[in-house]
Amino acid sequence: MNDSVASPTMGLFCDFDGTIASADMIAAIMTEFAPQPSGPIISAIVAGTIDIQQGVQQLFGLLPSSAFRAVREFALARVVLRPGFPRFVALCRERGWRLVVVSGGFDFFVEPALAPFRDNLTIHCNSLDLSGPMMRVVWNVPCDAKCVGGCGLCKPSVMRLYQGLVETRIVIGDGVTDQRAAQQADFVFARDRLLGLCEEANVPHMGFDTFDDISDELERRYGEARTDD
Ligand SMILES: [Mg+2]
Ligand SMILES: [Zn+2]
Repeated sequence: MNDSVASPTMGLFCDFDGTIASADMIAAIMTEFAPQPSGPIISAIVAGTIDIQQGVQQLFGLLPSSAFRAVREFALARVVLRPGFPRFVALCRERGWRLVVVSGGFDFFVEPALAPFRDNLTIHCNSLDLSGPMMRVVWNVPCDAKCVGGCGLCKPSVMRLYQGLVETRIVIGDGVTDQRAAQQADFVFARDRLLGLCEEANVPHMGFDTFDDISDELERRYGEARTDD
């Protein structure tokens, strides 16, 4: 490890569902396994009438633990990565930037989907407790004292874990669950609902469709990759 890796650098905090993965895997799982009861809960989460932590626990509480194998197989068959992701990971690695995947989703689909890139990124996500009759969410990074609470997996708290390790913080995401993290970022790459939220809140941002859009912009801002090392 050389000096430039140890010194403060850029941190890219990247959502998984709807961002790295083209679709929202939690929504896909619920549409497949609990379409009727999950609909109103998902609507309430999006509308902000229940917090994310309560909502996601209610969703997985609809599923018997015995269904886990089928749920995992379904998720792994469904997950599709957004174009340009391998180049984006390579760019971060070349520059010594920290790529941190911050997902309100679950290890059983995030980890296998990102296995080819595992040496070049860090993952924070949730797991499931299958010891009871119904699934129960284990929140691996709960809200710290500085957060108003209710996030479930708290993205701003994850960003604070990297204080002192990164000096510039970039957030990449698509939804309401990225909003609090985006408000703490130096710059945001946003799509879908997060794009409108960044516009409303006057957060410095750029829209994106593929990870090539993000890599192009990062190279424009921070220079083309050196080819002499
Ligand atoms: Mg998302
Ligand atoms: Zn929080």
